[in-house]
Amino acid sequence: MRFMTHLRRCTAFVLATVILMLTPAALAAQGKVNTSSLIMRKAASKNGKMIQTLDKGDVLEVLSVSGDWYKVRYGKYTGYVMKKYVKVSGTVKKESTSEKTEKKQETSTSKKENTTTKNETSTKKLTIADLGKAPSASKPGDKGSKVKKLQQALQIKGYYKGKINSTYDDATTAAVKAFQKSKGLSRDGIAGKATINALFGIKEKETEKIKATSLKWFKNTYAIPKGATVTIKDVYTGKTFKAVRWSGANHMDTEPATKADTAIMKSIYGGSWSWKRRPILVKYKNKVYAASMNGMPHGTSTRNNGFDGHFCVHFTGSKTHETNRVDTEHQRCVKTALNYSW
Ligand SMILES: [Zn+2]
Repeated sequence: MRFMTHLRRCTAFVLATVILMLTPAALAAQGKVNTSSLIMRKAASKNGKMIQTLDKGDVLEVLSVSGDWYKVRYGKYTGYVMKKYVKVSGTVKKESTSEKTEKKQETSTSKKENTTTKNETSTKKLTIADLGKAPSASKPGDKGSKVKKLQQALQIKGYYKGKINSTYDDATTAAVKAFQKSKGLSRDGIAGKATINALFGIKEKETEKIKATSLKWFKNTYAIPKGATVTIKDVYTGKTFKAVRWSGANHMDTEPATKADTAIMKSIYGGSWSWKRRPILVKYKNKVYAASMNGMPHGTSTRNNGFDGHFCVHFTGSKTHETNRVDTEHQRCVKTALNYSW
């Protein structure tokens, strides 16, 4: 019984070996890329147009061999890669004569193009669309496929002349900065969302604007409760800062939330505090109210925010502290703010 089992196993082993021996002849050989970025070209020549860059470990179908080059298929791409960068398992057939002629023609064409359009790198073949989905954000020092895609896109757009090495190095940072400059983006050399979107032609969804509404103060004095944090936007400068409602019954007595918020508010007032009224928008829980503020610290201060007191925020129909009257200038600013959206 044991002997029979052993015999069956032996037969199975022999059969498997025979199949394995036959397979390479029946199927194209497989190759594995053994370098970090291998360029696939249209022709078996260093002048051949670049089709695609392959990563270490990418598996290719090796169709034929010609000199120092393999003709390979990778996904939808067929082209040539240097032999020494591919580890092949199986036997590779010699390239046929017809293929060689074709290759020669391609080489001569690309050579001609090289001389006419000097320095315009051989990336015409690859388009942004070929790169597929836009990569996630990356920054100097990062490595991997997201950086590779970034480099390819920058190369396609003509900003990157270096190697596609999947490493966010100095050359990549410089290319990102050059691209950012051309698009009027902040030149920080970081491929953030805005840069990636501009590079890959993605239109950012325009956030829906919230139109300022009127807050009728004496009908809804605590629409913004005491202690609530709001965001204030100065309509003329567009600057925003956080503020906290401290108190107030005739209007909203408010303090900048932090020292940083105080600094922003002071910059809105041109660097020196004043009683001057300014139209503002007050955002609270996704509602935007038209309002007016003054810029003079006065009275009680409850926060460690570098603001010696509080300031006043007026809404529709609100009144001043002691005089109990509607302040014309504040109301004029509230009306102005009503024309704005957040
Ligand atoms: Zn006040």
